[in-house]
Amino acid sequence: MEKTLVVLKPDAISRGLTGDVIKRFERAGLKIVGAKMHMVSREAAEKHYPDNRIEFLKGMGQKTLENYEKMGVDPVKELGTKDTLEIGKMIREWLIDYITSGPVIALVLEAPHAVELVRKICGHTLPLMSPPGTIRGDFAYDSSYLANTAKRAIKNLIHTSGSIEEAEFEVNLWFKPHELVSYERVEEKIMR
Ligand code: GDP
Ligand code: MG
Repeated sequence: MEKTLVVLKPDAISRGLTGDVIKRFERAGLKIVGAKMHMVSREAAEKHYPDNRIEFLKGMGQKTLENYEKMGVDPVKELGTKDTLEIGKMIREWLIDYITSGPVIALVLEAPHAVELVRKICGHTLPLMSPPGTIRGDFAYDSSYLANTAKRAIKNLIHTSGSIEEAEFEVNLWFKPHELVSYERVEEKIMR
């Protein structure tokens, strides 16, 4: 059994997509063991996107440089730098602005292989690369080019933990142990 964190970001809430999104996880058998709706504080957002995750920050910077090259955009002209870490830090600020821009719904989902299963249902970071049938593929068209040009995060509706380690860290960050519940879904009897 694994637990993983899903956050319905402000665009999912303001577009009225909460039911559509949650339904997809529920019907796959993922059990909701924690749920809350709230405004994320800047302090909490900074912990969720830690500034010491250098590989994560550089990775976002690298993706941005590749994207700019494809589009023939000069990163120095656009963002003032071509340093991957600097660009990553800039995107992190946009991410914090995004997740604090309106209410979110945070869920802890539980199932065997929950982390991987949730990522599959969620789709790729870039909606354009998410196949139909995934949440991001069905409900969004945003791209890093559009987002970077507007100096904002990619609007891709949900956050989902990227690995088992990330899931453990994030579930503990967002939920206290007493906020998680334990019960059985009917699938569990069938799969035994
Ligand atoms: P995820 O795990 O699929 O959500 O993707 P990441 O953990 O790599 O990135 C976190 C979030 O940052 C994504 O969901 C996007 O909202 C945003 N993001 C990622 N890469 C970029 C980028 O190159 N440009 C912009 N503007 N936003 C990005
Ligand atoms: Mg991620």
